[in-house]
Amino acid sequence: MKIITTISKMQAFAAKARRQGKQIGFVPTMGYLHQGHASLLKKCKKENPICVLSIFVNPTQFGPNEDYRRYPRNKKHDEMLAKKEKVDIIFYPSVKEMYPSGYLTYVSVEKITNVLCGHSRPGHFRGVVTIVAKLMNAISPDILYLGQKDAQQVAVIKQMVSDLRWPTRVNVVPTVREKDGLALSSRNRYLSPEARRQAVSLYQSLCLAQKLIAKGERDSRAIIQQMTKMIKQNSLSKIDYISCVDAKTLLPVKRLKGDILIALAVFFGKTRLIDNILIST
Ligand code: AMP
Repeated sequence: MKIITTISKMQAFAAKARRQGKQIGFVPTMGYLHQGHASLLKKCKKENPICVLSIFVNPTQFGPNEDYRRYPRNKKHDEMLAKKEKVDIIFYPSVKEMYPSGYLTYVSVEKITNVLCGHSRPGHFRGVVTIVAKLMNAISPDILYLGQKDAQQVAVIKQMVSDLRWPTRVNVVPTVREKDGLALSSRNRYLSPEARRQAVSLYQSLCLAQKLIAKGERDSRAIIQQMTKMIKQNSLSKIDYISCVDAKTLLPVKRLKGDILIALAVFFGKTRLIDNILIST
């Protein structure tokens, strides 16, 4: 396993791999790796002779009152996990490398970035799209691996890749969960034991939605109401949003029809957790 820290070295490596006809798979992350990330890496390694993992806590996707500074970091642990998953390259740039002084260029996707998490976190997706574009420019991946856990991120990045006619395929990997259903997230470590116990209500409310739909419920308001009631039973929860949206346009739907994304964001104390399920009706 090799660690590369500069864009020029990463580009040179990718160009050489391409000359040798080796397909490159790429998994972008912010580090503090867990089994959710590992599942992306496993798929990437299985499908590509070269698996590149990037670790970069991207300042431009955090709002001024968000957790950029305290976002968990653990280089040693991440390197160990990457080695175990047989990653070929860790791309590990510094903030200066990605955003040198005088940096002025951003990439933004419109409309679908103003809803759901984009509504609560203005500027977040501008940062996400910019960094993914910059990482892709450094790595030139054939396949990009993203987690379903960040469903809106998947929709936004797919839109960018398609709009810019990038010759990269986007593969989406299912959400990996704890035994009780809580989606793995680097932010789970912020949770107090009590908040951790209560946080399982996110997944339980998604399961409830699934059950209601299986029984024939199609009214999104009724579904959201029941989910809200379930989550609010937990004293530490503060709901940011619960939405039923069209899986492609991310626009809210009144009656469920076709491919629907049920997505939510809930605070437990200062920790904001997200989760979602995809449903075909
Ligand atoms: P992050 O480091 O949180 O930016 O995540 C990097 C990638 O891992 C993103 O594509 C996430 O969607 C994905 N990911 C994070 N958590 C999970 C999970 N529990 N299951 C599957 N993928 C995940």
